[in-house]
Amino acid sequence: MAKKKLKIIFDWDGTLIDIEKKYCKVYKDIINTLGGKPILHKVIWALKRKNASVELILSKSKLPPNLKSKYAQEIIGRIEKDEYLALDQLMPGVPRVLENLKNKYTLILCTNRRDRQNLFTQLEHFQLRYFFDDIIFQKSKTLGEGKAGQNDCIVVADSQDYIVVVKKLKWISVAVFCGIRSRKYLQSYHPDFIIKDVRSLPDVLSKVQKEV
Ligand SMILES: [Mg+2]
Repeated sequence: MAKKKLKIIFDWDGTLIDIEKKYCKVYKDIINTLGGKPILHKVIWALKRKNASVELILSKSKLPPNLKSKYAQEIIGRIEKDEYLALDQLMPGVPRVLENLKNKYTLILCTNRRDRQNLFTQLEHFQLRYFFDDIIFQKSKTLGEGKAGQNDCIVVADSQDYIVVVKKLKWISVAVFCGIRSRKYLQSYHPDFIIKDVRSLPDVLSKVQKEV
């Protein structure tokens, strides 16, 4: 019987896609709408990568803490709009890495995006649809339930939510620090592996294969 291929689950935003410009533009537009004073791009992005609280972000932007839920609503309302999605860029090396992994592994894309059509449009735009055997619309916290709920998964993602759930499932977590969280922040969650971006994934996988 043929040996089952190992599955690699990839998060999308912040892992395969560089979301820094999108996030910072959404932030700036919301703060302006709410009557605050946006802080510098570099500063807000550094705060986000430390997982700073919304209260802190509001206070640095000269807004009161009672706008917290309004701010959160505005983010949800804007983050998947075309004008912001147009700012997304491909992380370095992504097509080459996926191409090299495609035959050896089952590649799954997992995203908590709500607008499926926009996600497919982006996949076509970046010419990545072809690499994935499956696309799952699921929140990181429910990973392991439903379609993704199989053994021997390696999960590559840029946020701590994935590390926490992957540990519970006894899968293998690979954290990338090119996205929404810094290296230092992700390290505090002790992922199995931590790399800057997917270009280092082949090295990680050669270690995993030796252990499996
Ligand atoms: Mg992400």
